[in-house]
Amino acid sequence: MKPYVLVVEDEDSLSTLLQYNFEKEGYEVEIAKDGEEALLKINERKPDIILLDWMLPKLSGIEVCRRLRLNKNQQKIPVIMLTARGDETDKITGLDYGADDYVLKPFSLPLLFARTRALIRRSSSSIVEEILTSGNIEIDTKALRVKINHNQVHLGPTEFRLLEHFISNPGRVYSREQLLDSVWGRNIFVEARTVDVHIGRLRKILKQNGANDTIRTVRSAGYSFEIKQ
Ligand code: CA
Repeated sequence: MKPYVLVVEDEDSLSTLLQYNFEKEGYEVEIAKDGEEALLKINERKPDIILLDWMLPKLSGIEVCRRLRLNKNQQKIPVIMLTARGDETDKITGLDYGADDYVLKPFSLPLLFARTRALIRRSSSSIVEEILTSGNIEIDTKALRVKINHNQVHLGPTEFRLLEHFISNPGRVYSREQLLDSVWGRNIFVEARTVDVHIGRLRKILKQNGANDTIRTVRSAGYSFEIKQ
């Protein structure tokens, strides 16, 4: 069954673009043009994910999100906020009202697809997906195997966990400390430099095997997984 995406967006050009591309990507798409229409459509049929514009007529995206989170049947629907405003307060407010993620306009479609896949995967706890993909990389999280371009590739256990973490959180920037916490674990003492060593190894393997996506160094911030077309 195709995952059902509700796009809530009052700008016709943008909602058309999203509908076209998400349908091409294998999703079923409905559009709501304002906050009230969004709530009606959500009541009619529960979406697998909602792409929710911040600035909407009638009810704002924030208000739609707040109401969803108050409704027992709808509070778990994953929501990605689409926002044209970039300042930190807006992001925090959006997440405060229960958005699961946010994407700034203008956004890159591959990144939005990746975030959408990741959220749907996280929310459908009954169907725990074993295979994660990104571009031509495929990882089997149960069998701990990685394929790039359909060829099996050998990764050390730390490189494997790093790659799994990056593919599950595409486009996010992680500091070395955050990577240590989530990939190595909080109680293990490792120097931050160790992260660089493993990132270096992983990058080399990705490159040697012709992976499309890669790990980007973000100056004075850390690392991020870069999604390409
Ligand atoms: Ca708008």
